[in-house]
Amino acid sequence: KEIGKSNYIIYTPIENIDSQENEKLLEDFSHALGRSEVVLHYQPKVSLYDSSIIGFEALSRWNHPEKGMLYPASFIHIIENTPQEIALGEWVIKEALAVLNNWHKNGYTYTISVNISPRHIQLQGFADYLEKALSIYSNKFASKLELEILEVAGVTDLTNVVHVMNKCKNLGVKFSLDDFGTGYSSLTHFHRLPIDILKIDQNFVIDMIENSDDLDIVEGVIQLAKALKRPVVAEGVETLEIALMLLYLGSDYAQGYGIAKPMPLDNIQDWISSWKSNKLWKHMMKYKDI
Ligand code: C2E
Ligand code: MG
Ligand code: MG
Ligand code: MG
Repeated sequence: KEIGKSNYIIYTPIENIDSQENEKLLEDFSHALGRSEVVLHYQPKVSLYDSSIIGFEALSRWNHPEKGMLYPASFIHIIENTPQEIALGEWVIKEALAVLNNWHKNGYTYTISVNISPRHIQLQGFADYLEKALSIYSNKFASKLELEILEVAGVTDLTNVVHVMNKCKNLGVKFSLDDFGTGYSSLTHFHRLPIDILKIDQNFVIDMIENSDDLDIVEGVIQLAKALKRPVVAEGVETLEIALMLLYLGSDYAQGYGIAKPMPLDNIQDWISSWKSNKLWKHMMKYKDI
């Protein structure tokens, strides 16, 4: 009925198996946070200008008791539009703040960004939760917390989202628009939402050396961000060549496998010490003033 009178869908056994499996995964996820099966891996963001470490993006991984380590691509879409999506969002915020608290004690000043579902951001309760979570640490790290959001697909009235985002910004947190360039109305969102930082989608960045259209798009996005006085993070910096091209085009920050893959919290300290002797870093320092 949903797709109109004269249309029909044939449900194949395979789709049934898929949906049964998805239901099982959703049921499993409802226990996952409580059983500490979900962990965050952290991927560094560095300055392209001087290679300094700016912060880390926290990315969820689920140690499923039977299936092993699951990446977001195999579970985020399953919890979408369910209360688990909210539960995960709240958990990552709490987790990130606890880490920021430890870092603060150890003299680290890096930022942590977390991914929040666009549906979660729309809820009035979101800002209240954030305020409560921040107050545990007397709001000390609000300016170190960044919330990465994707386009609010299907939401035509952005008034609510803008309202919640402004409340959060008054608490001191920042917003990044993730995967810029892939949504159906990126410019509208960038223009209407109180976005602090723009993240160029990795798909454009990864191919920009071979594909001149992608290169033009990356250049255009950097110019746009500059015109609107917002810093840009390029994702998908897999090679030194890409990093140098981004530096040339004027991108501010870089994130990608060429710098580091997402890593467990316990590996961060070692990675920080090794970064300064990294080949990429040395090359960047050589090219910086050209
Ligand atoms: P994202 O926020 O755009 O994160 C970047 C993704 O690209 C991550 O994948 C990261 O591991 C991957 N990546 C980083 N550098 C490179 C590179 O140089 N090359 C390539 N090919 N890939 C790179 P991951 O961790 O699998 O996460 C996928 C997506 O899942 C994220 O995309 C984000 O949208 C979502 N996600 C992750 N954690 C959470 C979460 O806690 N909550 C929500 N709502 N979404 C999450
Ligand atoms: Mg992200
Ligand atoms: Mg992204
Ligand atoms: Mg993405």
